[in-house]
Amino acid sequence: MGKTLVIRNIGLILTGKIEQPILDGDCVVAKDGVIDSCGFAADIDAGNADTVIDAAGVALAPGLIDSHVHPVIGDYTPRQHQLHWIDSTLNGGVTMMISAGEVHMPGRPKDIVGLKAMAIAAQRWYENFRPSGVKVLAGAPVIEHGMEEEDFKTLAESGVRFLGEVGLGSVKDGTTARRMVDWARKYGMQSTIHTGGPSIPGSGLIDKDVVLEAGTDVIGHINGGHTALPDDQIVCLCESCRKSLEIVHNGNERAALLTLNTARELDQLHRVILGTDGPAGSGVQPLGILRMIALLSSLGNIPAEIAFCFATGNTARERNLDAGLLEPGYAADFVLFDQAQHAPGATVLASIEQGNLPGVGMTIIDGIIRSERSRNTPPATRLPTVVSSR
Ligand SMILES: [Zn+2]
Repeated sequence: MGKTLVIRNIGLILTGKIEQPILDGDCVVAKDGVIDSCGFAADIDAGNADTVIDAAGVALAPGLIDSHVHPVIGDYTPRQHQLHWIDSTLNGGVTMMISAGEVHMPGRPKDIVGLKAMAIAAQRWYENFRPSGVKVLAGAPVIEHGMEEEDFKTLAESGVRFLGEVGLGSVKDGTTARRMVDWARKYGMQSTIHTGGPSIPGSGLIDKDVVLEAGTDVIGHINGGHTALPDDQIVCLCESCRKSLEIVHNGNERAALLTLNTARELDQLHRVILGTDGPAGSGVQPLGILRMIALLSSLGNIPAEIAFCFATGNTARERNLDAGLLEPGYAADFVLFDQAQHAPGATVLASIEQGNLPGVGMTIIDGIIRSERSRNTPPATRLPTVVSSR
């Protein structure tokens, strides 16, 4: 018999599915860390639950996914000499992060055997140690000139799933990038690219021609990190391919709205995914994903329940993840949140649509409570409580 978690008395269930972002219901059941059923408590056989949570009428969504982070080791980032940035981010509702390269490692090896060794080690150390329970999918090598097909095969066979941002290493031309991205894809690895101007000294410009030629699965920070491409190039990237359109907190907000509006005009909002691109020169953003949801919803006129999909189900689908969708079989990773105290708006969604952050009341990862009332968001009006646990 596995462990059963029941969350009842939920006021609003967000699914992460852009085609049906709200589910009628008030109850979610997870077994052994995986979603078992969702709907009305009256229709669900919750059985003999090990843990029961009374949501007190607050909203539940799949745990937020940050599609673009630069972790290094444990819950420490050398970039800003900061401890516990991942724990702080969990308090912002993020339960999964995807590395776009461990580029802030002091003395990062750039020779091929060294970069492969570090990618494999980074994949292992985050697989073996989840800071505060957060799933950090790391071990993302930055490609360098001289890599051969065999290197990508070795990386993939060793458990490496993602390339770091193309363009942060010596490979900055489309032709070489394309060859290596194709090798990565052949062995089942996803790829992303540093779109736009240089981020910090040592990185370079990647324009739309390089992005299109490289053909990575994700157009990494299409709104720049920080420096965005000119408007016509951003529109061209949206129109010319079907790759994921990743918008980040560390980018240009105006370019973020341009990307959003272009994707909407193309009827391709399912391609929009969110990241922070932290830690970076501008620090870490514990509430970065919530802030992007509020930004895009309020200034981009997107219903808040759709904006949540950008940080959950869209990312799950675009990046083949086992979390981010409220669907039986997906990981029981949730964020419970409510309208912030004294926030205007008739509902929590309305308050977000007016640009306000919600208050996080609890996070759950693999069916285990990982944080309760957030120490970082504005205080939620209502809070979920644990009714029983054994
Ligand atoms: Zn970048």
